[in-house]
Amino acid sequence: MEKAPAPAQPATIQPAPLVRDVQILPRKAADRTNLIGMTREAMRAALIAAGTPEKQAKMRVGQIWQWIYHWGVRDFAAMTNLAKDYRAFLATHFTIALPEVTQRQVSADGTRKYLVRIAGGHEVEVVYIPEEGRGTLCISSQVGCTLTCSFCHTGTQQLVRNLTAGEIVGQVLLARDDLGEWPVQGAPKDETRLVSNIVLMGMGEPLYNFENVRDAMRVVMDNEGIALGRRRITLSTSGVVPEIARTATEIGCLLAVSFHATTDAVRDQLVPINRKWNIAALLDALRAYPGLSNSERITFEYVMLDGINDTREDAHRLVELLKGIPAKVNLIPFNEWPGAPYRRSSGNRIHAFADIIHKAGYASPIRTPRGEDIMAACGQLKSATERVRKSRAQIASESRV
Ligand code: SAH
Ligand code: SF4
Repeated sequence: MEKAPAPAQPATIQPAPLVRDVQILPRKAADRTNLIGMTREAMRAALIAAGTPEKQAKMRVGQIWQWIYHWGVRDFAAMTNLAKDYRAFLATHFTIALPEVTQRQVSADGTRKYLVRIAGGHEVEVVYIPEEGRGTLCISSQVGCTLTCSFCHTGTQQLVRNLTAGEIVGQVLLARDDLGEWPVQGAPKDETRLVSNIVLMGMGEPLYNFENVRDAMRVVMDNEGIALGRRRITLSTSGVVPEIARTATEIGCLLAVSFHATTDAVRDQLVPINRKWNIAALLDALRAYPGLSNSERITFEYVMLDGINDTREDAHRLVELLKGIPAKVNLIPFNEWPGAPYRRSSGNRIHAFADIIHKAGYASPIRTPRGEDIMAACGQLKSATERVRKSRAQIASESRV
């Protein structure tokens, strides 16, 4: 288990002067800069730009960082190892702001789904999946998705924008808030991790928002904060070939690929990005994935669609394609959504498929659908605002007739 080094207890109060000679005027929240999601370098630059002397900036980042990301503090006034005037200075220039949770649902199986409102009134979904010995947080990287995989509900959503790094980190923070996961000062250290793993498998294509995803994951991995090990983070891509290698070199997390088909003809239909980068191009990029090894295998996600991609021939073809790549295959029973053009493969089909993969020497777990009663499962994520907007539009158009 990766463990964070014990963070230093709040140090002694620093002597003044702490701030360059700047005028401190009250500002509206909108004029203040949100610190959430900034990398250490970005935070340092922001502190300096606001008037923190350069020589102190690195130390200030260290202190603020620990308050925000280790202790979960959201109020500068509570940062008691900073002098009062510096705290006031911070509050004048900065905020520590999270996206707002507008809806929280808890499934009968313990899965939690949060509907989160971000700037502009858009909404994204975050799902927490507790399992034996681990807790996985599924976070979103975009509002909607520009890609149009035919089996994915998110792909039918028209509204799309990239999330900022702050909005991505914010999803992790709000889940920790809801789970009560921040340490309590003075209390014995609790080693249990509720959010022990993060998967970028919510809404959006993370490799189309690479920089923000990378910066957000750097914040989450930082040892003096949330301190999640890089191998506890999995980024899932539909196959944005030119960006794949950067996942290893710039984030270092694990990779999952939405494979879903064993011929280009079928993959073109299911995952249309295949028309740009086909199976051969994708496999080449995966074979070249930096740091690929047996302990850091690539996960091939494979959604089981009745009569489309679930035959024994498909399973054998998949085994052939995987040759030479340290891989595991995650079989995902299709999560049906209203109006979906596919059906879930039968249990027998899925097991027969898994068996062939397994016999060929690859782990082939069948993912248990979780949180189905609250529509929290993979690919069912689609914001409620969009649904409401659409149905209102429908009502309007119907009333015009
Ligand atoms: N855009 C990224 C990550 C988000 S989707 C990607 O496509 O990889 C996370 C996973 O859920 C992907 O493997 C996706 O193909 C799968 N998925 C989407 N819709 C699904 C559905 N209705 N049933 C099962 N899996 C689905
Ligand atoms: Fe986008 Fe992934 Fe859904 Fe495809 S499966 S539409 S890439 S979110």
